[in-house]
Amino acid sequence: MTATWLSGTKIAKEIRESLRPEIERLTKAGVQPGLAVVLVGDDPASQVYVNKKAKTCLELGMHSEVYRLPAETEEAELLGLIDRLNRDDRIHGILVQLPLPKHIKEKNVIDAIHPSKDVDGFHPVNVGNLAIGDDCLLPCTPAGVIEMLKRGGIEIAGKHAVVVGRSNIVGKPVALLLLREHATVTITHSRTPDLASITRQADILVVAAGKPELIDRTYVKPGAVVVDVGIHRREDGTLCGDVKADDVAETAGVLTPVPGGVGPMTIVMLMKNTVEAAGRALASGKAG
Ligand code: NDP
Repeated sequence: MTATWLSGTKIAKEIRESLRPEIERLTKAGVQPGLAVVLVGDDPASQVYVNKKAKTCLELGMHSEVYRLPAETEEAELLGLIDRLNRDDRIHGILVQLPLPKHIKEKNVIDAIHPSKDVDGFHPVNVGNLAIGDDCLLPCTPAGVIEMLKRGGIEIAGKHAVVVGRSNIVGKPVALLLLREHATVTITHSRTPDLASITRQADILVVAAGKPELIDRTYVKPGAVVVDVGIHRREDGTLCGDVKADDVAETAGVLTPVPGGVGPMTIVMLMKNTVEAAGRALASGKAG
């Protein structure tokens, strides 16, 4: 069996194009969707992500602001910037690129972003609303995974979904979203004994372990849908995921590639969230 590749690049492009009319409508109404991205320090991977986000904003005709702060920036200064952005009507989404330097408490920063501008979906109010099934801004990578499955024509309801990883940014929220789509969900993590015996039960396997090529074909049920969230740079400069792609492609029914899988979906969901936040600002009378 050879898996079908589910391209995030292609689906992300479709979603990006579908956002254009709404961006035009909002801009004409005086609320051009605006995203502020804040980067503290000079982590090379973060620089790449921030540049990609700003570029996508501009390509879509959105307003983009990028704040590059030195690594030694004090937490109070960062919180001051967030406070200003919270009150800035031109900005509908605020994203602080993680990880932050050690001396800044990530929680304080996430908590400081107004929930209505929390386009990363990490604020406790949005996380809580996701858990109870209320309307909220969804975290981008997990939302991208679900959107990819849906647009790829993959049935989620009634399926057994196994998630590898329980982080707040991927594992837990993707599990909640799969549950919301009526899957039967199992969450696994580093203390799960005999991981393969559980992942082999999955109709849909979402891997977000942060371990290069952890999952080979012995972990996968024949015909399963495998979503690889991981992204790693090998020593030779090439990229790989948490899944040993060539090997798993022999067993899986559907597999997402790395690169070109979940990565592009994450960025487009960020744009979607910003457009949504702008739409809500317009509806509530807060024009830019
Ligand atoms: P974290 O390191 O925060 O979490 C990893 C999770 O995997 C933890 O819950 C950990 O368990 C679990 N885990 C680690 N090793 C194993 C193992 N051997 N067996 C089972 N579970 C294991 O990572 P993130 O969730 O932030 O990210 C996961 C991956 O996704 C990374 O490669 C990251 O780069 C990538 N990523 C990609 C994005 C994209 O846009 N494509 C966006 C965000 C992340 P425990 O809790 O017990 O420690």
